[in-house]
Amino acid sequence: TPTVAFDNVTFGYDPGRTILNGLSFEVPAGSTTAIVGPSGAGKSTIGRLLFRFYDPLSGRIMVGGEDIASVTQESVRAAIGIVPQDSVLFNENLSYNIAYGAEGADQAMVEQAARDAALSPLIERLPDRFETMVGERGLKLSGGEKQRVAIARTLVKNPPILLLDEATSALDTRTEQEILGTLRRIAQGRTTIAIAHRLSTIADADNILVLDHGRLVESGDHVGLLKRG
Ligand code: ADP
Ligand code: ADP
Repeated sequence: TPTVAFDNVTFGYDPGRTILNGLSFEVPAGSTTAIVGPSGAGKSTIGRLLFRFYDPLSGRIMVGGEDIASVTQESVRAAIGIVPQDSVLFNENLSYNIAYGAEGADQAMVEQAARDAALSPLIERLPDRFETMVGERGLKLSGGEKQRVAIARTLVKNPPILLLDEATSALDTRTEQEILGTLRRIAQGRTTIAIAHRLSTIADADNILVLDHGRLVESGDHVGLLKRG
């Protein structure tokens, strides 16, 4: 399980306007760091840089002590599992949807990922289990079930790093708590960055970063942040 670190990272999408300004932080191996802050603070940008959609203007992003600029985009991406706010389900069967993006995943891996994402209660109800069509023209899934498919899709890659990008913010509060339980379980043994806009979703974080205008304005654990008020 690797450590993830941003080292003095500056980035902007457009010339003359920086979005991240000398940002440094470290997510120790196997721990969970939550990133909170107002809309537009640069939270999702951190995820896009980690996934190498973009490269920093200056500074370094380190995974397991290695600058990700010096390894291939494919190998960086293979190490990172993203759970987004909303996932696209294809008009295909459940197996296809879970295995999507993980070439070489066999049925046993799909089934294990489904179990780990706590999809078993849904799958038990399906007449032909993994062969049932889901998506717009197939079986309609609830928001929570869709999110569990997204989690299974992430887990089938068995990534050492998890990037949760507002992974529960499209859900009602009860479903959110259920999915948070699953996310807490799958984060064990992985290095996790959880981008959040609701404080109720970061109870499990070992460390919290508060971002504003691309700068860290606070960091610490829950108790530390409360003490500083
Ligand atoms: P957050 O996730 O904290 O809401 P983002 O990282 O999405 O913030 O965005 C930070 C800033 O970068 C915002 O001002 C946003 O408008 C800008 N931004 C995001 N994506 C792009 C893009 N593709 N091109 C130009 N500006 C962008
Ligand atoms: P919690 O943290 O409250 O256990 P989970 O999301 O892990 O929440 O579990 C949600 C439901 O799925 C519970 O009923 C739980 O018993 C069940 N469950 C948990 N793990 C698995 C699993 N690996 N396979 C199938 N079902 C599971």
